Amino acid sequence: MKITIIGTGYVGLVTGACLAELGNDVFCLDVDHNKIEILNSGGIPIHEPGLDEIVARNRAAGRLVFSTDVAASVAHGDVQFIAVGTPPDEDGSADLQYVLAAARNIGKHMKGFKVIVDKSTVPVGTAERVAAAIQDELAQCASTATFSVVSNPEFLKEGAAVEDFMRPDRIVIGCDDNSLGNLARAQMKKLYTPFNRNHERTYWMDVRSAEFTKYAANAMLATRISFMNELANLADQVGVDIEAVRHGIGSDPRIGHSFLYAGCGYGGSCFPKDVQALERTAQDYGQDLLILHAVEAVNEKQKQVLGAKIMKRFGSDLNGRHFAIWGLAFKPNTDDMRAASSRVLLSELLRAGATVAVYDPVSMAEAKRVFALDFADTPELLANIHYATNPMDALDQADALAIVTEWKAFRSPDFEQVKAKLKQAVIFDGRNLFEPAVMTELGVEYHGIGRSVLT
Ligand code: NAD
Repeated sequence: MKITIIGTGYVGLVTGACLAELGNDVFCLDVDHNKIEILNSGGIPIHEPGLDEIVARNRAAGRLVFSTDVAASVAHGDVQFIAVGTPPDEDGSADLQYVLAAARNIGKHMKGFKVIVDKSTVPVGTAERVAAAIQDELAQCASTATFSVVSNPEFLKEGAAVEDFMRPDRIVIGCDDNSLGNLARAQMKKLYTPFNRNHERTYWMDVRSAEFTKYAANAMLATRISFMNELANLADQVGVDIEAVRHGIGSDPRIGHSFLYAGCGYGGSCFPKDVQALERTAQDYGQDLLILHAVEAVNEKQKQVLGAKIMKRFGSDLNGRHFAIWGLAFKPNTDDMRAASSRVLLSELLRAGATVAVYDPVSMAEAKRVFALDFADTPELLANIHYATNPMDALDQADALAIVTEWKAFRSPDFEQVKAKLKQAVIFDGRNLFEPAVMTELGVEYHGIGRSVLT
């Protein structure tokens, strides 16, 4: 099938590459010339395991094209995926300017019938706004072209995006129940047939319910994390091991084991903004989502938990102190640092007077870019960040190590070397990678999240 993907970011690039891998003829559009240039010269602008091979293979086969040419992109695809960003607006609602700009571009150039797919995470009612924007453009050029807007939210996880896209738990598609909607449904069914070969994974519904499903999923996952984080903070007070509790409750099939890990807060481009956007939608309808309000507040506080533990141990004036941070990305296997907990910790340590050595397996370039923005008002603090070339280098003469991202490479370090490098053998483990008893045996002063068992 002939497919256009508008927006070649984490979602658009993975969607485009994976659909090309299945034999479709895919045209990826982006307004970012730099990104398209990187892709056209054989590079990949993001870190995503397995993506480079798929992109290279399909580019070489001529099934995957990258371009900034809007008219050509609209002419290409019978199905037009909108996969642009929907960042939070100042009031927390999803900023739809990129989605609506993409829609207008389609309206300006389209001929015949097109299926327009909202792949971006967008609030309930967005498909109607997309349709209105396209219709408005068609009216301006007296076009008789027709279209139907479909909602097909994306559930891939960064770091496992290719695998998630190729083997999805579910495919959610919302279509209108009318003649153009039926045409769109038939096209979507054809496109996703290879994914449903072994069993049917598609959940068909109305457009608004599909839009809502994406927010409900992320809100539920964020809720589980904040719930466990709040309990972990209590566990620290009352002398309970939250890891034991996690196993104890996760074994109940009604609860399950996933997303019960206590830590130093969730980040990324999705949970924080989607929780906020859903709260905002509710407000528009005169409702307060009390649970989600708490989920967000708990998470904001949790991002400060490592800083608070460090200051409890070393005092609030950290002048003359030096710390190491392992892990900058918001989670492992990605270079994405949007809303990452590491940014909160780094800022707290630097503003309290400390110097900090940071290390991440893939986010070092992104870290430099992001920190320059974070400290634009206090550029003198940037000089207090040392970018280490490996995890051990980061530990040199540090008063303590703080772990923020659970990269596999951090799970089994040579603890004798860790101790030798650190000025003091103190570890603040924001992802509960290690066993407190083992740390005590090794002579490491260990501070996990919710692991202060009374002995
Ligand atoms: P991203 O910022 O990585 O990519 C968006 C791309 O769209 C950028 O490259 C930008 O230049 C481009 N763009 C903006 N306006 C454009 C236009 N008019 N025409 C063409 N290109 C345009 O964003 P992302 O992380 O891929 O997220 C995209 C959407 O998918 C968001 O709504 C997000 O919430 C949702 N989503 C993201 C993830 C994730 O893990 N990143 C997962 C599921 C859903």
